[in-house]
Amino acid sequence: MNLHKFATPAGTGLAGYGPTSPLQRFLEQRHEEFRSDSSGQVASYIPELTRANPKHFGAAFGTIDGHVYEVGDSAAPFTIQSVSKAFVFALALETLGDERVEQAIGVEPSGEAFNSIRLTADNRPFNPMVNAGAIACSGLIRRVEGDGAFERIRTILGQFAGRELDVDEAVYASESRTGDRNRAIAWLLRNYSVIEGDVDAVLDVYFRQCAILVTARDLAVMAATLANRGVNPTTGVRVVSPHAVGRTLSIMMSSGMYDYAGEWTYRVGIPAKSGVGGGIAAVLPAQLGVGTFSPLLDSHGNSVRGMKMCEALSSRFDLHMLNRSGDVRSCVIADYEAARVASRRNRAPHERAILDERRSDMRVLELVGALTFGSIDYVARRLGEAPPRAALLILGLHRVPDVTEAGRRLLADYLDRLGEDGVTVVIAGVAADAPLWRALRDNSPKARLRRFDLLDEAVEWAEDQLVYRYGGFSVAATAELAAQPLLAGLGAKDIAALERLSSVRRYEAGAKIVSAGDEADSLFFLQSGMASVKLPSGVRLATFGPGDGFGEMAMLEGRRSADVFADVASICRELPLDALGALGDRAQVMLMRNLAALLAQRLILANAKVELLTGN
Ligand code: GLN
Repeated sequence: MNLHKFATPAGTGLAGYGPTSPLQRFLEQRHEEFRSDSSGQVASYIPELTRANPKHFGAAFGTIDGHVYEVGDSAAPFTIQSVSKAFVFALALETLGDERVEQAIGVEPSGEAFNSIRLTADNRPFNPMVNAGAIACSGLIRRVEGDGAFERIRTILGQFAGRELDVDEAVYASESRTGDRNRAIAWLLRNYSVIEGDVDAVLDVYFRQCAILVTARDLAVMAATLANRGVNPTTGVRVVSPHAVGRTLSIMMSSGMYDYAGEWTYRVGIPAKSGVGGGIAAVLPAQLGVGTFSPLLDSHGNSVRGMKMCEALSSRFDLHMLNRSGDVRSCVIADYEAARVASRRNRAPHERAILDERRSDMRVLELVGALTFGSIDYVARRLGEAPPRAALLILGLHRVPDVTEAGRRLLADYLDRLGEDGVTVVIAGVAADAPLWRALRDNSPKARLRRFDLLDEAVEWAEDQLVYRYGGFSVAATAELAAQPLLAGLGAKDIAALERLSSVRRYEAGAKIVSAGDEADSLFFLQSGMASVKLPSGVRLATFGPGDGFGEMAMLEGRRSADVFADVASICRELPLDALGALGDRAQVMLMRNLAALLAQRLILANAKVELLTGN
């Protein structure tokens, strides 16, 4: 919805409401509240980190449509430290594949501090979020990238952040000089062949990766990239695959907050990763990335104010990942037998009779919103309750932006079953090159599927199937003026006179018969072929076949309101409006009555559509 449409004059409306969006206000209020909390200590085991300013506090939320809300010191740079572990793990999965990574590094929470030297019973690091696992991860990248390993990491982290990232040389040098514990861990890993080759070179990659400079805003965008299944929402660049994202978030959930991870999952329930530089990146899949920075750490090494911000977000908006709900029924916006809402193809009376009689052979379900496993199940059950005598099921998906992978798989299975039952499913509102269409087509070998860009085209096609199946096409349409509903009741003499005054016109396929804006001074009667009324935007309003008349609005309006094109080579009889003046009074009244009846019919159809689509 475009808010600007509702703006009232003189700044009293919603325009300009942006800066006070509720999420921005939430961020500002919580920032104000938590900044006074000066509990915790800055990290000191890396000497250079003691220089951090304990007053610094910044936070940012990055949405999956690329907007960033920021507050406080959200632009202040600090070293990423352990937050890098999550992103480098994703890179390792992407570069080496699951199997090689999992051979080297476990996925179990360790329950121990991040710098624990303990390994699993089979001598692997517990997981990639503790130092041992992260150093092993950097070692894996180095196996593939050699001396280019660090540059590769810096580049990928930059893609996650949407900008090029630098290194804090002083912090790097400081940790490199003093990081004997990490050195011991690395040598132990070498002993068990988790690390191969030059241990110092691997440690150098790790220390540099930890010293990469980011801001709270960067972390928010990096987290938003994970929330967005691996595509950076600010740049549109795909950084890693959805698969690597899912695996990475799993480990963040179970082990991202050091030996506080279980508590974190229990209380906050948002996958997150923290670092001793004071940063936290938290990810709400499909919704939001959170980045916080405040260097005061608790005893586990987690930023105190950053945790508070995440906790407040989770509890205020009930965002715990495992506490989700949804009403699957809201995905059906309209459900009808197609005879109630015909396509824009004008149907001859005998065709309409067939469609009316076979009305329950064709069912249309219009769906809305992102479809999930649950909503597809609901749709299948809903259709099952009133089993489609429907030989034709039309699924209108033009308001469906997405179907989850699980939903797609369930739908594919369902389409197969319908195929076995002899039901043809017409998918409307999905482009031929859309991933959804390709997935359904490729994964439902038994389905009887058709696809159309527009719902109206789909309904028209389905109507054609019924008309054809029940013999409707064998009845020849008549193009006699006497059979025209508009001229019904006129005497033979009048008809003969009109015929004399009219002229026969021939059109090539694609030719324009009438132009919007032209003077409306004649009526048309289609003798053969097919013609469509279209708005300048290309939207089709109606399609006519032999025996139909069009352009009758000329009797009410001075100018043509739409274009009419010949869909195929067509022949029309054109009757100038002037000619009607030659008719007697009684015939003229008759004509106006006929016109009123035609318009009433159209209005009834339009009302039915409005009722169906608005539900009132
Ligand atoms: N570079 C730090 C280390 O290895 C990272 C630790 C952390 O942020 N938890 O000790």
